[in-house]
Amino acid sequence: MTGRNELYQEMILHHNKAPRNFGALEDADRKSDGHNPLCGDHLTVWLKLDGDKVADVRFEGSGCAISTASASVMTDAVKGRSTAEIEKLFRSFHALVTGQPAPDEDLDLGKLEVFSGVSEFPARVKCASLAWHTLQAALHGDAEPVSTE
Ligand code: ZN
Repeated sequence: MTGRNELYQEMILHHNKAPRNFGALEDADRKSDGHNPLCGDHLTVWLKLDGDKVADVRFEGSGCAISTASASVMTDAVKGRSTAEIEKLFRSFHALVTGQPAPDEDLDLGKLEVFSGVSEFPARVKCASLAWHTLQAALHGDAEPVSTE
C-alpha cells in the first residue's frame, strides 16, 4: 500500500467516525431513502433547494465506513452547486470509483479523490455511490426508495 492510499484510508475512517452534515434537516424540501442490499447500507438524504441550487443537504444512515464517509464528503461537495454541476461531479466520481478515465479532466474532485482506492474493490462501488444515487432521487423528487440492486 502506498502512502497516498494510507492517507485516503485514514480520511475515510475519519469521515466515518465524525461524518459531516449528519442528522435530519428540519426545513428540507426533499427527502430520499437509499439502500444497498449487497452490503446492508441505508441512507436518508435531505435537501433544501434554492432555485436550481442545493442550499443545504444533510444525511443520516447506517452502513459500512465507505458508504458513510462517501455521504459525508458528498454533502460538503454538493452544497451550493446546481443540479447540472452535481450531475457532472457524479459522472466524474463514478468514473473514479470504477477505475474509468475521467469524463471531464478539468473538473477538480477535491476531497472526493479519497475514494479512488474503491476502484480496486468492485464490490464496494455500490457503497461509495449509494449517497449519490439517493441524492439524485431527492433532486428529481422521486418518492420511491433507491436500491442499488
Ligand atoms: Zn457498504
